[in-house]
Amino acid sequence: MRVAMIGTGYVGLVSGACFADFGHDVVCVDRDAAKIGALNAGQIPIYEPGLDALVATNAKAGRLTFTRDLAGAVGKAEAVFIAVGTPSRRGDGHADLTYVFDAAREIAAALKGFTVVVTKSTVPVGTGDEVERVMRETRSDAEFAVVSNPEFLREGAAIQDFKHPDRIVVGTDDARAKAVMEALYRPLHINRGPLMFTGRRTAELIKYAANAFLATKITFINEIADLAEKVGADVQEIARGIGLDNRIGSKFLHAGPGYGGSCFPKDTVALIKTGQDHDAPLRIVETVAAVNDARKRGMAKKVSAALGGDLRGRTVAVLGLTFKPNTDDMREAPSLPLIAALRDMGAAVRAYDPAGMEQARPLLGGDVTYCKDAYDCASGASALVIVTEWEQFRALDFARLKQVMARPVLVDLRNVYRAGDVAAQGFTYESVGRPKR
Ligand code: NAD
Repeated sequence: MRVAMIGTGYVGLVSGACFADFGHDVVCVDRDAAKIGALNAGQIPIYEPGLDALVATNAKAGRLTFTRDLAGAVGKAEAVFIAVGTPSRRGDGHADLTYVFDAAREIAAALKGFTVVVTKSTVPVGTGDEVERVMRETRSDAEFAVVSNPEFLREGAAIQDFKHPDRIVVGTDDARAKAVMEALYRPLHINRGPLMFTGRRTAELIKYAANAFLATKITFINEIADLAEKVGADVQEIARGIGLDNRIGSKFLHAGPGYGGSCFPKDTVALIKTGQDHDAPLRIVETVAAVNDARKRGMAKKVSAALGGDLRGRTVAVLGLTFKPNTDDMREAPSLPLIAALRDMGAAVRAYDPAGMEQARPLLGGDVTYCKDAYDCASGASALVIVTEWEQFRALDFARLKQVMARPVLVDLRNVYRAGDVAAQGFTYESVGRPKR
């Protein structure tokens, strides 16, 4: 099957490479000349484990190509995916659909013969109707069906998630579109990846409901962590104790500095706006978003408390800047408000991240010292703060850290270590939701 993927970002590139790997003929399109130039030169513009090999193999086999020529790619395709960004709109938090509608117009102008246009971007309920209207306005004679096919992959495990999904949601009532979507995903349902057909609006809302539910789970355990800290209980044991209950499940119950990333923050806010617009307010999600925002900045107080309540003139070392490990994505990373708060409290900040420093620089500005590894980062610091749990931070050499640090203080916002082990190395240790020793 011939596929055009419009938008070659985290979702477009991974989806395009995976579809090519299934044997489809995929053209990935992007407006960004530098991105397409890099991909054509064999470079991967993002950090995602396994993606370089997958792209290289399929490009070499001639099934995966990259271009800026949207019209050329769309004209030949049986299915055209829209995988462009849908960031928060400045000012009101609604999803900004400018890129989606721009892409829809360009696609409509280039269509040749019946084509399935699939919205993979996360878009508010009703957007499929608007995409259809915009396309019809551009080309009244075009033959197409607009389908919703939200993406659930996680950065850092994106290929595995795409190839072994818990479910594939396809929103359409069009029989021809259904047949095309079935053919596209056939390799997955042979592997028993459940393909679920729904109405288009339902599919759009499933994506937001899923993200809002997961954000709620994280925020719930974070608040339980705060209570556990106050009463001398251990949130990790609580998470295990409730997670073993099948009705609850153990995933997304890791207490930490608050969720970030390219999806949860913007999608929860967009869902809240949709609820308000339709006079069906989502009070739980509203609270989740507010609690999470306050938490991210509030983590600086934990660092300050570990140093006796005063950060002025002190150096704080931050390990991990990206919103989670195994990605270079800095969008809404908890490290950003945390570092801003640390600096407001008078601390000098040193930072190290295995993949995200290039993306972090323009967001954090020049007042942070970027370091070459964890030990360089800890050098001269009065506290070391683990913000993102990259593998390489899981077995730090505490003797070496102690030698280079001004004070042996570890603030572990991801509960990577056990309090007893760290204390045995002569460190003061703070974590999230666990009893103090
Ligand atoms: P991204 O910003 O990484 O990539 C979007 C790309 O689209 C950019 O490279 C941009 O240049 C390109 N683009 C924009 N308009 C274009 C046009 N008219 N023609 C060609 N290219 C165009 O975004 P992303 O993280 O891949 O997210 C894409 C969508 O998928 C969003 O709606 C997001 O919410 C959703 N999503 C993201 C993830 C994730 O983990 N990143 C997971 C699930 C869903």
